[in-house]
Amino acid sequence: MIEVLSVASEAYPLIKTGGLADVAGALPGALTAHGVSMRTLIPGYPAVMREAAGGRVIYEFNDLFGAWGRLIAGRFAGLDLIVIDASHLYDRPGGPYAGPDGKDFADNWLRFAALSWVAGKLANGLVEGYQPQILHAHDWQAGLAPAYVKYGPTDQVKTVMTVHNLVFQGHFGWDIFQRLDLPAHAFYESVEYYGGVGYLKSGLATADAITTVSPTYAKEIRTYAFGAGLDGLINARASALYGITNGIDIDAWDPATDAELPQTYTANTLHKRALNKAAIQSRFELEATPGPLFSVVSRLTSQKGIDLISSNIDWLVSLGASLIILGSGDPGLEGALLTAAQAHPGRVAMYKGYDEGLSHLIQGGADAILIPSRFEPCGLTQLYGVRYGCVPVVARVGGLADTVIDANEAAVEAGVATGVQFSPVTSEALGDAIKRTVDLYADEKVWRKMQRRGMKSDVSWDASAKKYANLYASLLGQPLDEQSGD
Ligand code: ADP
Repeated sequence: MIEVLSVASEAYPLIKTGGLADVAGALPGALTAHGVSMRTLIPGYPAVMREAAGGRVIYEFNDLFGAWGRLIAGRFAGLDLIVIDASHLYDRPGGPYAGPDGKDFADNWLRFAALSWVAGKLANGLVEGYQPQILHAHDWQAGLAPAYVKYGPTDQVKTVMTVHNLVFQGHFGWDIFQRLDLPAHAFYESVEYYGGVGYLKSGLATADAITTVSPTYAKEIRTYAFGAGLDGLINARASALYGITNGIDIDAWDPATDAELPQTYTANTLHKRALNKAAIQSRFELEATPGPLFSVVSRLTSQKGIDLISSNIDWLVSLGASLIILGSGDPGLEGALLTAAQAHPGRVAMYKGYDEGLSHLIQGGADAILIPSRFEPCGLTQLYGVRYGCVPVVARVGGLADTVIDANEAAVEAGVATGVQFSPVTSEALGDAIKRTVDLYADEKVWRKMQRRGMKSDVSWDASAKKYANLYASLLGQPLDEQSGD
């Protein structure tokens, strides 16, 4: 077994704000079958400590960045965890990064420096009987961890830095550097970023390998348009860069057993979805239309291209289709969608908020899901859509480009299409895609085939886990599993 220490600021089901938690939570289980034993180092937020309080104490610090702290190990919520119990850093109300007022904690630099510093110590044999061979850091919160390994005493441990979203970088003032317990030369060699300290930048500069969550995003982040200021560095490290597409939890997302659905179904009983569609229509007072019931399940932000949806609502309705929206976020975008919904009663409805159960019902009942993201490292909702026969209509960017097969004529003819892609990411191109979808829907045979093809495709973690396992093995100089693919 290869021993890997994963370092993450969130992990499902304990604490989640986004896709990172899904990956950190699902990868360890999927890796076991590929000869990898993964433990996860995570901060002891209140939600984590509620589970971990009774675990085994494996180390105590007199001074962990300002006060006493300790490490607790054990299996909690199905995960093999090492939890940092340090109340001065993590025991506070709010989410993992921000207080109840929605403002980022002012000491996030310290809270996540501590996470990375502990990871570095564990890599250097802090706890007797535990020696990881690989340290796998996720996002900026763990970005300093590869630097702590690089500037630490051992060069035996190899490091991987995974980028889940390049726009979140952890950029702080230069004056914190002296508190980080790194040698002075580390500043100009790797840590400095536009005159300050860059956590993600440090990870990108010092890790032995860099991964991101889809092959297309791995290419995009090398460009000025998607590189968020880091494209120069990423290009310099291109030979160490890999794109590995995320999977989804196919047990939690299974239309054959989903308890949130009034009617479960399989690829062979797709007609049963009609009951779920009817449930959505009656709950949101939507008319049954000749055209498809489109849906949106999303954070409402500019990244997700939500403005392109509001500018297409009149058009969508004019084509005889309807729309259900689930989401919250930017007040301006929320307002535009609500206004559009009010202008089309019976045809467009919106639920403002976050509702996991409703997101399942929508995937299990709506005909199509609109995802016009301006950039999308991987994206999950198109994968749920594919698995649930809710045909994804996506911008051809990032992971959306890699996981949806466009219903062009050749693909429809060959029976391999799973959705609709469009490019460039403009209102006009989305409008064309909506029209194309309405036309495809009108041909029941073609539509059913597309749904079935998607439902039968493999969106599990298995293939990705194998790629991560092979990457770890190659970093350790071990032979690759021959069936690995790229
Ligand atoms: P991102 O992490 O950028 O928000 P992803 O597509 O990777 O985008 O993941 C979004 C996740 O959040 C999906 O699981 C999606 O179903 C869920 N989600 C987004 N908005 C809502 C909402 N309003 N209610 C329920 N689930 C939501």
